[in-house]
Amino acid sequence: MELKDSPETLQALRKPQVTALKNLRVFNLQDLLLYFPFRYLDFSKNKKINELTLGENVTLKVVIKSIGSRFSFRGRLSLAEAIVSDSTGSLKVVWFNQSYLAKTLSVGEEIFLAGAVENYKGTLQLSNPIYEKVSDPPATPEVKANWQANIPIHTSRLVPVYRLSSGIYLKTLRNLIAKALNIVNLVPESLPASILFNQKLLSIQETIKRAHFPESLEQKDQVLKRLAFEEIFLNQLAAQKHKILLSKKQSLKAPFKQKLVQAFVKSLPFALTAEQKKATWEILQDLEKPMPMNRLLEGDVGSGKTLVALIAALQCLEHGFQVVFLCPTEILAKQHFETALKYFKFKNSKFGISLLTNSYSRLSEAELSKTEALKAISSGLPGLYIGTHALLQKNVKFKKLALVIIDEQHRFGVEQRAFLFQAKNKKVPHLLSLSATPIPRTLQLAFYGELEISQIKTKPKDRKPIITKLVEEQNRAQAYEFIKNQVKTGRQVFIITPLIEENAKEKKAAETEILALKKIFPEFKIGMLHGKLKSLEKEKVMREFLENQIQILVSTSVVEVGVDVPNASVMLIEGADHFGLSQLHQFRGRVGRSSHQSFCFLFSQNLNEETKKRLVGFTKTQDGFELSELDLKTRGFGDVYGQQQSGWNFKYFNPNYISLIKPAREEAIKMLQEDFELENYPQLKEKISQKTIHFE
Ligand code: ADP
Ligand code: MG
Repeated sequence: MELKDSPETLQALRKPQVTALKNLRVFNLQDLLLYFPFRYLDFSKNKKINELTLGENVTLKVVIKSIGSRFSFRGRLSLAEAIVSDSTGSLKVVWFNQSYLAKTLSVGEEIFLAGAVENYKGTLQLSNPIYEKVSDPPATPEVKANWQANIPIHTSRLVPVYRLSSGIYLKTLRNLIAKALNIVNLVPESLPASILFNQKLLSIQETIKRAHFPESLEQKDQVLKRLAFEEIFLNQLAAQKHKILLSKKQSLKAPFKQKLVQAFVKSLPFALTAEQKKATWEILQDLEKPMPMNRLLEGDVGSGKTLVALIAALQCLEHGFQVVFLCPTEILAKQHFETALKYFKFKNSKFGISLLTNSYSRLSEAELSKTEALKAISSGLPGLYIGTHALLQKNVKFKKLALVIIDEQHRFGVEQRAFLFQAKNKKVPHLLSLSATPIPRTLQLAFYGELEISQIKTKPKDRKPIITKLVEEQNRAQAYEFIKNQVKTGRQVFIITPLIEENAKEKKAAETEILALKKIFPEFKIGMLHGKLKSLEKEKVMREFLENQIQILVSTSVVEVGVDVPNASVMLIEGADHFGLSQLHQFRGRVGRSSHQSFCFLFSQNLNEETKKRLVGFTKTQDGFELSELDLKTRGFGDVYGQQQSGWNFKYFNPNYISLIKPAREEAIKMLQEDFELENYPQLKEKISQKTIHFE
């Protein structure tokens, strides 16, 4: 047997079983071995019949005294019934919808039964227990050799539970895996022995065995630790490698232009906050260097990141370079375009400001065809190019690209960031990512190991905290009254409706919502944004909201509301329980963007104690970092930062393993110092090649 062999080498399989395995992405024995359970049933307690207590999960070793099948409940349900006994007594067993068991099992046979005993009309009974014949050759020789001999695999232990696909039973899969464990020693180890030793980790072979059939919960913990370590180690290895590779690349240098920066800052209608100044200074210093910057500017919504990014851009532009400002949506691109036009009016700029998205191709205020725009870009026309994914297309080749700014960087995948390293350019641009998702400090290295970080933690001084309230359903009318008054004094309102369903439903729900609201607010104009709108329609609605032609904007959560409407003062969130606190915080950040007092109202139809506590916690703080910590504690991080944050697909690493980050990082650095190309570690090399950006 070899790892590459198909599961059918273990036992004959029927077509649906093979198909089911394929659906689970199990094609060969190695896949089978690495198909880990997601939980365990604890049937490790072996008991005698006279020791049974109600509700306790146990395994019994019994002999079948009688067995038969019949229909019950007016013939609607078939069932198998048995009487079993051991040296201490006898017990009734029922299996619903498994009447065939009356044929599979026979009187006199010795079996294990695993389940919880229940009280049925005054007598103890086992319903639907897992059974396993004692005479079955349950464990493979390997399993037997490594664990207690003759131990069953479906009962009498921590029993692994796997995610299934229709066509295959849990027991079948478990049998296959137990058999595949015969060749577990062929699975190659990817971590060097020294790391296993230093970090007290299980070998991969031991990890696999125990992952499937742990002898104790402690062993399960060791398994998870090893898997988490490997994950965070690979993450750090990729990050460090990337960092070192980048430091060997060349960028365009943009030396500090003191007079220019001073003049620009002076032209603003407000003073920069201390943290904006500090972040700006950190970035400008990086831009002076000949190697590429790779920096994350992290700051709460409304903390003024755009301006800091624009100062960085200005310095590069003044040197005659090109700068790209990437936005996740067209609306945001348009808004940044207008902001840049406004701010850069302070002087007669010698550079252009352009907007390039699917629907716009505007070069320095003139409409140009796409082809003309591309030509200008590849000829090296200096300027600030603001746009969306459209800017990332393969045929867009910048000639003098000094800086790339990525707004809401988590929205862009690794492949898209790889665009920065176009083969044609000898020079790699500086990279500045902006993010409003605060990551708990303890996790920053895990998420942003390859980045330098600048933070803006305080908002501009004139901002008042946003008054946040969890509104009880009976006070809804009162909240609407309040909103009316706000609008009457000239303010505007956002309403978020939660939608986790697919898009078609989203549109309908948003439309129903808007009809209801039109009845409540007949005197105001109400607009709507949802995922089904074409980008030009979205644009139109946003524009009307910006110009206060619309007073109330209803939006589903899938629509980016990362736009700046300083006049808006109320954020009303329906179904607040659907969202993580960080996400609620993002919504809340859409108001409170000027000196007007702003408000955030949360509604929730299903408030249990826990959600209530969580949401009340939210009303009490305005600090995004604190909220992200809270999220972490109450929802775990898969939920909060899960798949949406590209590149962070940790499967095993989680906040419980924070203490592994530092040693993993140190081991990664040491390994790269000794063997930068990872020639001695082909497996690691292969694994991280999927995580790193290729320069050529
Ligand atoms: P974000 O960090 O969420 O991207 P923005 O850059 O959009 O925040 O800034 C929010 C608003 O605050 C903008 O209208 C911007 O002009 C304004 N702003 C930025 N810096 C300051 C400051 N130092 N003082 C007052 N207002 C500022
Ligand atoms: Mg922003």
